[in-house]
Amino acid sequence: MSMFTSATSFRVFNILKCSNYTFLRTTTYMAAPPTTTACPGAVSINSSADASPSSRDRGSYINEAKPTTITLQEWQAWGTDSPLPTQVAEIVEEMILTESESDAQMKFGGLGGKLKGDFKTHEDKKHRAKYRALDDSEQKLHFFSARQIACRLLGSRGYLCQRCWLPIEDCMCLNVVPCSLWNRMRFWLYMHPKDFLRQNNTGKLLWQVFGINAATLCLYGIAEHEEIMWKEFMDSGRKNVWCLYPNKNAPTKSVEDSFHGSETNTTDKTMNFILIDGTWSNSAAMFRRLKERADLVWGDDLPCISLTTGASAMHKLRPQPSWDRTCTAAAAIGLLDELHVVTEFKSLGLDKQAEALENSVDVLLASLTGRRLRMGRSITRRQRHHNDIC
Ligand SMILES: [Zn+2]
Repeated sequence: MSMFTSATSFRVFNILKCSNYTFLRTTTYMAAPPTTTACPGAVSINSSADASPSSRDRGSYINEAKPTTITLQEWQAWGTDSPLPTQVAEIVEEMILTESESDAQMKFGGLGGKLKGDFKTHEDKKHRAKYRALDDSEQKLHFFSARQIACRLLGSRGYLCQRCWLPIEDCMCLNVVPCSLWNRMRFWLYMHPKDFLRQNNTGKLLWQVFGINAATLCLYGIAEHEEIMWKEFMDSGRKNVWCLYPNKNAPTKSVEDSFHGSETNTTDKTMNFILIDGTWSNSAAMFRRLKERADLVWGDDLPCISLTTGASAMHKLRPQPSWDRTCTAAAAIGLLDELHVVTEFKSLGLDKQAEALENSVDVLLASLTGRRLRMGRSITRRQRHHNDIC
């Protein structure tokens, strides 16, 4: 009996994030941010901020040097080639305007670049009023997601490396070895806005290793991203889309059952695999949204697959105690490994591609562990009692 069956597999899928949420949540920022996110191989942002490091908090700039918007180049450097979402741009500009009109300076801190201080109080009032005025749940979701993304973009600016999403002093980009994914395969990281720019997110590793055309970010509730993804799915056809998620309400097939003897390998269509990149509680809503869209587009269920050999993949990911469970990247590794043993896929080098991804997980773990040790924090795992509510 495998560990990776229905609800169990989904839970395991998310435990890593939960533990590491605690792992990082008490982190405080040691140093003021550098003035640019440039690091080896990364595109630098269009920021001319040159405030003295000691005079500002993360994400705050002295007025005369502060960029007034987010450029397309800055947006795309975070790991996407999509246009800058309209609503995100609007919210960013509104926040910058609000700051210029008030005495309070925009400040961010804590996990996920949350707003802080007087500016937060001021801005919260405005955004709550706006949210309340929206009566449509779809509009509310779009607004919620766009605001989350906007805050994270502004809060991480000049602080995180745009490629690896780690603080610039811990940038791991030089240690990540890129690898080509089999050209008929494509991953979609369907990511919750609260996981966007999170240091311990492992979904980002997929495009760091395979590139953004082979592993594409799709932010939940961001209309532009969801449209791009669904357009690709419609072009590929329902038979070439799979969600790696155990669906309690529909039969979930194993990789072997889904692909052995299938005609998949005889066509030239892209095989699309959706990985839901969110916490346990957020993932249910994300999956529901995918399912509803599939029903609308195809009048049919979203095909779901689950892993059966996940445990072995997980056990390889054990650099330190708090990381002994699987995560989004491990799910992708498990999928590649399982596909590799299907006769029709044997000769595609999927095992090597899984290994490349696994190496990048090791690199991330080493960077996060190094950071934690450097800051004098424990790396031992804390007892978790609420894995499903992180
Ligand atoms: Zn980096």
